[in-house]
Amino acid sequence: MKIDLHNLTIKKAHDHLMAGDFTSVELTQAYLDVIAKKNKDINAYLQVFDDALEAAKKADVKIAEIRNKKSKIEDQGSMLLGIPCATKDNILIKGKIASSSSKILEDYHATYNATVISKLEKEGAIFLGRTNMDEFAMGGSTENSAYGVTKNPFDLKRVAGGSSGGSAASVAMDGSLFALGSDTGGSIRQPASFCGVVGLKPTYGAVSRYGVMAMGSSLDQIGPLTKTVTDAEIVFNAIRGKDIKDGTTVDEHRGQAFATRLPRPGLLSAKPIIGVPRHFLGGDGINKDVLKSFESALTLFKEKGYEIRDIQLPNISYALMVYYIVMPAEVSANMARFDGVRFGLHVDGKNGIDDYFETRRAGLGREVIRRILLGTYVLSSGYYDAYYNRANAVRRMITDDFLKAFQDVDLVATPTAPSPAFNIGEKTDDPVAMYLEDIFTVTANITGMPAVSIPCGSVGVLPIGLQLTARHGDETALFSAGKDFLNEQ
Ligand code: GLN
Repeated sequence: MKIDLHNLTIKKAHDHLMAGDFTSVELTQAYLDVIAKKNKDINAYLQVFDDALEAAKKADVKIAEIRNKKSKIEDQGSMLLGIPCATKDNILIKGKIASSSSKILEDYHATYNATVISKLEKEGAIFLGRTNMDEFAMGGSTENSAYGVTKNPFDLKRVAGGSSGGSAASVAMDGSLFALGSDTGGSIRQPASFCGVVGLKPTYGAVSRYGVMAMGSSLDQIGPLTKTVTDAEIVFNAIRGKDIKDGTTVDEHRGQAFATRLPRPGLLSAKPIIGVPRHFLGGDGINKDVLKSFESALTLFKEKGYEIRDIQLPNISYALMVYYIVMPAEVSANMARFDGVRFGLHVDGKNGIDDYFETRRAGLGREVIRRILLGTYVLSSGYYDAYYNRANAVRRMITDDFLKAFQDVDLVATPTAPSPAFNIGEKTDDPVAMYLEDIFTVTANITGMPAVSIPCGSVGVLPIGLQLTARHGDETALFSAGKDFLNEQ
């Protein structure tokens, strides 16, 4: 059977694998062929693993076993068995390089597996390679990579978004069936929006961060980039769960109890109510075509029987400022470990302390250094109360705004990003313009709530994303509305 990668989803591929229409080796080879053809232009992958086909062979043996036994038992095998995927370069796979797209970790080989990797490995997923990103996940365009920008598969003059730009582009160019990204302030959702794919940032604590390089520890989550909402749900279910190695993880039941207000009786059959913070959508910085697509998305929801309500989030305009204080503060602490001794690059200086400076000067890019400086400043004595503590107080207020809104509605809808994919180089000289790209996405990280970006139209060839945010632990509401929107059910 000829494999139609463009229209393939995890669900379809699983059915074909189980029916024996094609093997995992054939599927993996098909992806490797696309990567060989397209990656030199798009630069989604930093490295393609040479053991992918070997892993696919093993998956095929398991698939054959399940197929032979199928008449007797109802074991369909894991949905991810034999499914090829890509992983962001800040996620550790034992024995393989994990560089976070930084020079400082150019030759760093991971000594253990991230929990998400162990989980996917157990499910039988095939790792195709590691994807490009903004250095240490700091950025919104993948232009901060030490290994060149990732181009948008829809228009090679434009960025793929970031920081998980390589992961999003790998799915969009049919170079993987799903990819993992990390999201500290929008790094899964914004590139998903720019590349026309689905991107999920789970509830804080739903997915283990063990073995994923920390950026902002109170904000980071790992999540999937996929072609459909159904696929995002499949991957999320595979990687979620309590992990003894990450004390912030919660188990699935806790996740639900966590919700501020359990769904009203009968909600499972009724449609979730969607809230729209209109007062936050009027700014000049928001592209008119994005707003148009957003309005059409709301109309479509209405036609599908959803109730749309106007909501107030009084402190949401402070979200970006809170993020750009809390995040660099945590970045500055997390980056201290790259000292030229423990991991990766070492450059000799005149003495011990000088080694540290020389190593970091040679190994870290400008944006990373900028954030370390900002973070060190806001945490320094005398400024700590004025900046970091204040930001945390406002963080709580923003969370409370959302919790209050969720007494009336089940989902909050906004555009994912204020613009479609921008030109390469357009914002590199203006960090603040780049930071403004995160205006809609940072709130989910600040509040810890789950959020998804789903494709909702395009401007010319450029995709646009719609963002839905839900209560803590209520990914189900995101999936059900998302599937409905994309006609997946
Ligand atoms: N664009 C945001 C930033 O630059 C988000 C990064 C992320 O989520 N890793 O910080």
